[in-house]
This record gives sequence, C-alpha cells and structure tokens, in this order.
Amino acid sequence: MELSKRRFKEDFKRMLTELYSMDVPRSDPAEQYFTLGNLVRSYSARNWSRTNQHYLDRKQKQVYYFSMEFLLGRMLKSNLLNLGILDTVRSGLKELGIDLETVAKVELDPGLGNGGLGRLAACFIDSMATCEIPGHGNGIRFKYGLFKQKFVNGYQVELPENWLQNGNVWEIRRTNMAVTVNFYGKVWLEKCPEGYLIPHYENDSKVLAVPYDSPVIGYRNETVNTLRLWSAEMPPQDESTDYWSYIQQRNRIESISEVLYPDDSNFEGRLLRLKQEYFFVSAGVQSIIRHFRKMNVRMNRLAEKVSIHINDTHPALCVPELMRILLDEEHMDWEHAWNVTVNVMSYTNHTIMSEALEKWPTDMISTLLPRIYQIICEIDRRYAVKMGALYEREIIERTRIIEGGHVKMAHLAIIGSHSINGVAKLHTAILKEKVLHDFFLMYPSRFNNKTNGIAQRRWLMLANEPLRRMIDSKIGSDWESMPTELKMLKAFRNDEATLRDLAEIKRINKERFAAYVQQDMGLTINPDAIFDVQIKRLHAYKRQLLNLLHILSLYFKLKDNPAADIYPRVFIFGAKAAPSYTYAKEIIKLVNSVASLINKDPDIHDKLKIVFVENYGVSLAERIIPAADVSEQISLASKEASGTSNMKLMLNGAVTLATLDGANVEIRDRVGDENIIIFGLKEEEVYEYYHNRSYHSKSYYDNNPVLRRVLDALIDGTIPGIEAEGKDIFNSLVLYGDEYFVLKDFDAYVLAQENIDRLYRDPLKWQRMALINIADAGVFSSDYTVLQYATDIWDVAAKARRV
Ligand SMILES: *Cc1c(COP(=O)(O)O)cnc(C)c1O
Repeated sequence: MELSKRRFKEDFKRMLTELYSMDVPRSDPAEQYFTLGNLVRSYSARNWSRTNQHYLDRKQKQVYYFSMEFLLGRMLKSNLLNLGILDTVRSGLKELGIDLETVAKVELDPGLGNGGLGRLAACFIDSMATCEIPGHGNGIRFKYGLFKQKFVNGYQVELPENWLQNGNVWEIRRTNMAVTVNFYGKVWLEKCPEGYLIPHYENDSKVLAVPYDSPVIGYRNETVNTLRLWSAEMPPQDESTDYWSYIQQRNRIESISEVLYPDDSNFEGRLLRLKQEYFFVSAGVQSIIRHFRKMNVRMNRLAEKVSIHINDTHPALCVPELMRILLDEEHMDWEHAWNVTVNVMSYTNHTIMSEALEKWPTDMISTLLPRIYQIICEIDRRYAVKMGALYEREIIERTRIIEGGHVKMAHLAIIGSHSINGVAKLHTAILKEKVLHDFFLMYPSRFNNKTNGIAQRRWLMLANEPLRRMIDSKIGSDWESMPTELKMLKAFRNDEATLRDLAEIKRINKERFAAYVQQDMGLTINPDAIFDVQIKRLHAYKRQLLNLLHILSLYFKLKDNPAADIYPRVFIFGAKAAPSYTYAKEIIKLVNSVASLINKDPDIHDKLKIVFVENYGVSLAERIIPAADVSEQISLASKEASGTSNMKLMLNGAVTLATLDGANVEIRDRVGDENIIIFGLKEEEVYEYYHNRSYHSKSYYDNNPVLRRVLDALIDGTIPGIEAEGKDIFNSLVLYGDEYFVLKDFDAYVLAQENIDRLYRDPLKWQRMALINIADAGVFSSDYTVLQYATDIWDVAAKARRV
C-alpha cells in the first residue's frame, strides 16, 4: 500500500488517542503495540472485504486448509512487511522516539501448534495470500497455546501459555456466523413422505462454534484471505436451566477449545481430542456450505467451487461430515454425495511412524458421534463390497477403515480423497512402496508428492535483515517474490569481497545471539566458535542423542589432551518434549546435565559450550537460525517425512550435516555433494536391517572403545545428577535394541563432524558453501509449494509465477 511517513505518524497518533486517550511520550510499548496492530488491521480492512467480495462476485473456487495447528509466530512485523510499509513504519516510529523491535516484542507468540506440521500451515496461508490463491485456514482458537517450557534443575517443566491474556489485535469475533455442532445422543433414520431418509436426534448435546477471523495479508498485493479459528461456547440456554448445572456444562463445553495437545508425532487416543477434531471439522464444513449457497450453484457442483484440504489425519472427519450434510440436509443420494465428497477432499500424509497414526475405538466414535459413525460404517461397507470384487481378501482387510474395533483415520482420509500427497520425494516413495502400498495399487493416480516449503518472507526477509540487504545489493530484489532468482548469487561464488560480506553478516548475527544468551541465560559464548544448531521437537527418531554422544566424545578428547586441536564449537539445542514422553524428557535432562558439566569445566575453556535454550518456538527460531553455521538434520533415514528447519537454516547460509532423509535428499540434489555433509545409513539399508533383524547394537558398544567410553559416562557417575536417566538411556541404546540406530551411525557421524571442523578452517571455502546453499534455497519457498497444490490438487486459479 502507499503510505507516507507523515501520514503514518498522524494515523498513529490519532489511533493512540482514540484507543487510550494517550499521547506518544507518555505511552508504553503495550499501548504502542495495540495501536499499531489496530492501525495495520484498518489498513488491510478494505482489501479484506474486497477480496471476499471479489471471490464471491466471480464465484471463484475456494480452498479451505483444515489444520489442527497453525504455528503462526508473531504477526506484527510480518503484516507490516506484507503491506509493504515495514520501513516506513519503522522510521516513522523512530521519529516519534519509538523502537519498532521493542513494540513487536509485546506480542505474545501465538503457539497454536507443536512443530513442523503447524508451522507448515502458517507458511502455507501466507503463501496462498501472496500467490493470490483463494485459500483460507480453518482451525481451533485454543485458549492456551503449546505449553511454556522451563528448565528446573535440568528437567523440563510445563507452564500454561496464556497467549490471549492481553487480547489479540488481529482477530474479529463473528458472533453472527456461529454454527452448532452436535455430540452424543441417539439417532435413527425415518423415511419422510418425499421418499428419503432423514435422521432424528434425541438427547444430543449442542455446542456453539464461534468463529474468530484474522486477516492473512498477501505480500505487496491486494489479496487478504482469512484464517478462521473456532471457539467452543455454550449455546443460548432456556430460562429453566439450573445455575450450577449451567456452570458445569459451560466448563465442559469450553474445554473443547481450551488446550492444544502438546504431542508431536504421537497419537493421543483421548476423548477430548476426538471432540476437538469433530468440533472444528463440523463447524468449518458447515460454514463452507453456508457460504457456498450464496453462490447459487447447485450442490452437485460443489467440487467446482470448493476444495477442502486435510492436513494430516486430524481433520479426516471432513469426509463423513460433508457426506452427512449432503445426505441429511441436501437429500442427495449416496452415490452422488460420495462422488462430490471425494472430488472436494484432498489429504496430506505427514508421517510413517506407526505411533502417530490415528485410530479411534469404534465405541468412542459411535457414542460421541452416532450419525458420523453410521456414515463411516457405510463408507467402509461400500468400500469392501466394491474393492472386494477386484482385490484379494487380505488386501481389503488391510485397507478397511474399520478393523479390530478401531476406525483408522488415514484409511478414511485416503478412501475419501481424490489426492494423497507425501511431503518430500523420499517420503512419497516410501508411502507408495511400503506404508501405503496397498492403496497405491488401488488408486495409483491419487498419489503425488508435494515437497514442503518455507516462507522466505518470515525466514529471511524478517529474520535476517542484514542478509536480505546484502542480497538485494548484489542481485536486486526480484528474488523476494521469485525466490529461485537467488541462484543469481552464484555469480559471486568466487568473489572474495562477497564471501567476506557473508562472513561478516554471519558474525553480526552470531554476536547478536551471543548477547541474547548472555543476557537471558548468563552464559558466555564465543562468536568465533562454530555455531552448531539442532532445533526441533525432542523425539527419539530425530536423534538429539547422536549429537550429544558426539559432544561427549569431543569432551573426553579434550580431557585426555587439553591441547587437542578441536575448532571451538557452540552446540545449540532448542526442543520441547511432549509432557507424557518420558524418554524425550530424560534426554532433555541429560543434555542439560552434560551442558552444566562441560560449560563449567575450566579445562575446556571456550572450546566447547552447550546452549539449550528454554521454550523453543517460532520467535526463538527467528533468532537462532540467522546465527547458525551448521544445521543438524540427523534423523534416522526414512523417519523424518520432510523437515523444514533444514530449509530455513539453508536459506540463512548454514551448512547442512545430514542423513539422506526427508527433504535433505532434495537439498543434496540441489547443492551437490560438495556443499553438504552427508553421513549414515540410507533408507534402503534401514529397511534391510528391519527385514533381516540383523542390527545388534550391543556389539557396537562392545567393539568401539570411543563409543563405550561415551556410553559408560551415562552410568558411571561422570555426569552428575542423571542416575535414573543415564541408566534408562544407556539401556535403551545398548540392551534394548537401539530402535533408531544411534550406535550404528555414531562412527560415520563423528567422521562427518571432523569434516566440518576441517572445512570451517578455510573461511572462504566455508562461505562459498554458505553462498551456494542460500542461492539454491529458493525452490524450497512455500510460494512454489502452494502453487503446485493449486494446480495439481486443488485446481484453483493462482497468479502465474515462474519457478
Ligand atoms: C520450522 C519449525 C519446526 C520444524 O522443525 P523440523 O526440524 O523440520 O522438525 C519446529 N518448530 C518450529 C518453531 C519451527 O519454526
């Protein structure tokens, strides 16, 4: 938008007066933040309603991205950037004596997600608005975001994250658009005079779903899409309700949108979770149908106007919910309704880990959602009949939705969608060949790959302004809306001045992070050291333990020989563990204990430091990533579906140290083997070990003295305060099979780390690797990813863009 500094300052002062009866000198950062937030919303208001009107006038097909999680991060600067007024506002505020950074920090980071899956949804809605795709987010307005993590004596402690306590400037409550969601009760079908069956409900309990809409502002265009998050409330009561039962019932209802389950890659089979899933699915689908009716298009053409995307299986009930509406409310016959539903739905699979695959007990679903259960049974029955004529019985049994007293949500999503995608080439190949092979045989054309992506706006333009400026000065700013243009940087691969600039920027970012660590943790770290970063959820398959065992091996090397030639390193960890995931919490305690041992050891000096930041989330990621030299992507091959922190770190000039897993494979294919450090088992080898059951971790302990010493340190008192944890972890690795092949990959990892140490000593060579990584990161922009979804899956219009 056009906005002069003078006009902005006037607007700001006027808004401050209107909202707070306050003038600039006496206002505090919180007042300044809410003033600025309101101003931004008012600046985007007209385009928001215009965008909606435009979509409706042209009857444009709409995409609805259903996701349990949207891990947005702070929105103020992102919205300013996308409006094209970040610099104007920053300098206008400065003239008013206000620092934008201070103001931006007032915003409580909306942590409505666990990790990669939720962050992907956030990058996607930003990219859809930017690419002028008519696409909107649909989710839950959790009152509490992901827990706040604290370390007490090295242990993770979880505190509530009350992100709404000061209000949320971005959202608009739309009471008049509330819908009712039904749970429980009895349902039976009766034939009505017109001949179709209509359901009758008895004793069902109703929940009011109230939408809160936030604008999703496209980057320097006129598109403003919508993120709609639903809040559960008590429906209007009749007069006779008794006070105490009212309060009890209200608490029960409101609990539906109270907390996000803090579990990542793990299935929580609890009733409240199922309620949450149906709640936002039903509210979302109902409101989509209501909106669709305004277009005056017949319901059997719904798929021409609406696309519903199911982000992982959490919203898989979209399939029976749309069927319910088409059958019970639109009185369509089954075949037509099913045809419409399959054409509307598409599904993204995010994991092959069996513990993460949702399967609900049938009695739980039939009690909570009786009508939905009937419909699922009928979908399942018809599937078995139709496919039973074509395929062997075993295949049908393996692929049915209802099996062994459970409803398998992935099967429901697959059978009910016209498109099923994996999130990286390797992941999609594993789905086709292994995990979903039966389905691939039946529906080969439904399967496709869409490698994940990240928004370059948040992860470079906002998070790393020095780098953005430097890139602009070298190649101009076309890359900002066409990120593959970053490849132009390669022209400077042998330009020493550019490589030194790059080093200088990294140095500034490292100093900035070091100052933060000093202030926040009282820990001094040396910005000349290699900043080696592993930031992601704590999970056994991500193998933070492998990283830690290597650190211990360096520690012992230095203890044995204080003069050992080790290039100084700062190992940076950020990770939350699911509160119920004991093993992951033990690893947190172990990392913290090793950190206090090493950080305090006078023999070590500045050679090794461990920084385990508390409460890792989007805002911390934005601080750490620009300061990273090394990106640790060391999951056991085949386990990490894609990964996205690998892309963010690459885009900021970190060199990736990785197994050939998820999108690491595609990063390697881009930058070439000379610009990435690859180690460890490959996916086929992992499957071979599974097949032959031929991995015996104990022999690695018995036969590798370095590894034995490191592992013994877990149980021999070397590391104080970890008696129980050390023993559990030791046993899991040495005695109980080492599920994720940590010991198997240890030697290869140590060698890869020695390679890093060697390469880093040649600064120009290192910066050349960094430059190539930045230059090749463009394809991983989520702008391209959503454009591929738009053409291949959703069949919607988008602004043409060159890849
Ligand atoms: C990108 C991101 C993730 C995903 O990290 P992976 O290493 O891909 O698992 C998790 N959390 C936050 C806060 C992120 O920004």
